[in-house]
Amino acid sequence: MAKPEASALTDLFDDESDGFAVRPVLTTAPLAGPLSYLVPVEMPTGALVETPLGGRTVTGVVWDQDPTDKPLDFPRSKLKAVGQRLDAPLLPPALRQFIDWTARYVLSPPGAVLRMALPRAALAPPPKRTLYRSPLTGPNPEARMTVARRRALAELQDTPALPAMEAARVANVSPAVVKGMAAAGLLEAVTIIGDAPMPVLDPEGRKPSLGAAQAEAVLALEAATRAEAFSVTLLDGVTGSGKTVVYMEAIAEALAAGCQALCLLPEIALTDQWLDRFQDRFGARPLVWHSELSAVERRRAWRAIGTGEAGVVVGARSALYLPFPRLGLIIVDEEHDGAFKQEDGVRYHARDMAVVRGQLEQAAVILASATPSLETLANVDRGRYARLALPHRHGGAEKPDIGLIDLRSQPPERGKWLSAPLVDAIEEALANQKQSLLFLNRRGYAPLTLCRACGERLECPHCTAWLVEHRLHGRLICHHCGYSARPPTNCPACDAEDRFAPSGPGVERVAEEAMARWPDARVEVASSDTLAIPQAIRDFTQRMAAGEIDIAIGTQVLAKGHHFPELTVVGIVDGDLGLGGGDLRAAERTYQLLTQAAGRAGRAESPGRALIQTHQPEHPVMQAIAASDRDAFVAAESATRQMAGMPPHGRLAAIIITGKDFAATERTARVTARAAPRWEGVRVLGPAPAPLAQLRGRWRFRLLVQGRRETHMQAYLKEWLDPLEIKGGVRLHVDVDPYSFL
Ligand code: ADP
Ligand code: ZN
Repeated sequence: MAKPEASALTDLFDDESDGFAVRPVLTTAPLAGPLSYLVPVEMPTGALVETPLGGRTVTGVVWDQDPTDKPLDFPRSKLKAVGQRLDAPLLPPALRQFIDWTARYVLSPPGAVLRMALPRAALAPPPKRTLYRSPLTGPNPEARMTVARRRALAELQDTPALPAMEAARVANVSPAVVKGMAAAGLLEAVTIIGDAPMPVLDPEGRKPSLGAAQAEAVLALEAATRAEAFSVTLLDGVTGSGKTVVYMEAIAEALAAGCQALCLLPEIALTDQWLDRFQDRFGARPLVWHSELSAVERRRAWRAIGTGEAGVVVGARSALYLPFPRLGLIIVDEEHDGAFKQEDGVRYHARDMAVVRGQLEQAAVILASATPSLETLANVDRGRYARLALPHRHGGAEKPDIGLIDLRSQPPERGKWLSAPLVDAIEEALANQKQSLLFLNRRGYAPLTLCRACGERLECPHCTAWLVEHRLHGRLICHHCGYSARPPTNCPACDAEDRFAPSGPGVERVAEEAMARWPDARVEVASSDTLAIPQAIRDFTQRMAAGEIDIAIGTQVLAKGHHFPELTVVGIVDGDLGLGGGDLRAAERTYQLLTQAAGRAGRAESPGRALIQTHQPEHPVMQAIAASDRDAFVAAESATRQMAGMPPHGRLAAIIITGKDFAATERTARVTARAAPRWEGVRVLGPAPAPLAQLRGRWRFRLLVQGRRETHMQAYLKEWLDPLEIKGGVRLHVDVDPYSFL
């Protein structure tokens, strides 16, 4: 059908006899909602279309009619018609509802949420791929033969055309041999256009033999998955109890029922071992979704999910917005992890939104953790989530013995960071050919550099933050904005030459100490600086598992998920580090991180030991960790929050106002605060300069809104902020359920 000129349509044709209907179309532009367009009547809801908008063409999706919408008070003849339909799977109904839901909850424009769900690469043209097969006309008889070539030829005789990597694997030669054979006429190279197919997963595969508690949990999760109804289950098990083993059986159940399953992991660093285990269980790898995918991989993944060809997806939080047409199971592993909160753009918490998506999809949701968040435990208490417990480590591995080292009575030597009891424990491990892990959640060499002549501290020119020395790169780096500079020789304040001294430890400095103390030991640093790419993480974990490292020194990259059988000593260099921030979740985060880190010790036959260096061994958090008494910690922490009306017993939202001009920003913050509506049970605190008072050259002010659990926070914020006009280069953003208070 020819596309009519919108202007040629008259209002007489509002009966769709011109083949067009007035329909809402949501575009990726950050507008308040969908706009009305003329859409061919046969075009289904959820179709992706080229959409004219303000002289540009943007991607749009034919959206659902909101029944509460007023009839259009706009002449039909003024409406534009949408352009071409794009070649892509429909955006499924539950995802459309989920996008609207997220937008309403986090107070973002729905178009901004849609943009997360529609990565640009998903709409790129299909890639060209080269496949190899044995020539239909037979191999070139003149070509030179080698043993490898002959073998490859035999192996590839009856296979379909395969990509070079695959063909190489089948023939047990290198991809270069395959390509060389094609050049010599021994194989035929065929070019095809389209995405690579998905490997087939086998839900039967290799089933584990389960322990009693595991078997019980598997039964319950299988039932929940089969029900094809919404449910949330907390899978609550100590580290090493087999949570992953157990929820993989729920994935098998979803696959067997013909449903798709999604597993969210907090860090892509964790995916590698996970993928190996998955392959072991299901015979092939699932789709992986994270920010490091190439455009071709991204397109393929998005489409295979949208068509339902991909059965299982594992990914970072953004995988939650993928177009699954029949999602039956969502797993959030390490559900307590702060990395599930997105801190820019659309500020959503993937664990909370996973539950929402599960509800919209009528799917089973599993939240797994050894240290569940207080939010999730409160939902268990309220009877909204079920709970399955795995109280013991698999195979009888003992829980690590956790000890506190009082740094006040046993301080390390001057300029050193490891106390005598920790040194002894590492020495013992070295003598027994066991591994040790030193945990310090601080990248770089030293968190602070100061001038010994005048006391000046080197600060980021754009942020309220010290510059962190990274000796590995020979630079001073701002961890907030990425600014980096060569260390100066002269003090910028007093011009003294070469008088700088590092202050405090980072992982590089602790590694220096370990290497000096144990020159024969194999010491390695693991942080996001040294393990920036998945391959590096993979290498590191393999070397660690193979016993090629004696002492690993790492940040939180190392605290989670990994399983190292010969690791017997975990030393927490600075147990107090997390408590310093003093925000709402400081105690909870410290408890979780240290428990996770300690849980790395002694996961196999060798019993493990964790030693925590602290200046405040009497602190309730330290006492609870040392006693492995989670219930006591949770009860005390929850009571404190209850008294203060804090989450999970109350609601919070943060408003952050930023601008380059200090006075204008501060003025806007004050005007905003004055406009706050008065609601019963809602308090507004601030404005106050943010702890991170300047970031990337912008001044920052914060307001904190505290409400009761029954407060409709979004309604309150809309009543307050919708009428406000923010001008003069000042920006305001809202963070519902904030996790960062910087
Ligand atoms: P969690 O996820 O609770 O930390 P994992 O699922 O990673 O625990 O299990 C810890 C270790 O124990 C892994 O090496 C895993 O392969 C092993 N394991 C757990 N349960 C079983 C089982 N039923 N059969 C064989 N190995 C198991
Ligand atoms: Zn900075």
